Amino acid sequence: MIYDRSNIFARILRGEIPCKKVYEDQYALAFHDINPQAPTHILVIPKGPFTSFADFSSQATPEEIAGFVRAAGLVARQAGVEDSGYRLLANHGPDSHQEVPHFHIHIVGGRALGRLLA
Ligand code: C5P
Repeated sequence: MIYDRSNIFARILRGEIPCKKVYEDQYALAFHDINPQAPTHILVIPKGPFTSFADFSSQATPEEIAGFVRAAGLVARQAGVEDSGYRLLANHGPDSHQEVPHFHIHIVGGRALGRLLA
């Protein structure tokens, strides 16, 4: 899918829009979700131009994928939810209500989440 360089996360990556950053390295940026659904709700986004999980999983290099996954694990650990538990979630496409067309995962925790997110 063609990447939309004007999407809001692309603009955050370029520093055009602020975010509450919790972590950044060469592969990933993590920040607090602006509309948190739980006490811990952090988004982790890769730095590359990937529209969704489909593009990230098929187009990112093994190094980019490994770096992103490693960063997400670090962020969860730093958020202090490793012992209590957390959920990783990635929406892809219309049925999932993916809003922002830049691949991201949600790290959600800090409370009992129930068996599935609505
Ligand atoms: O997975 P989905 O695309 O639906 O989620 C997008 C998420 O990005 C939402 O949870 C929304 O609150 C968040 N968001 C944000 N900062 C923005 C715009 C959206 O944290 N400036």
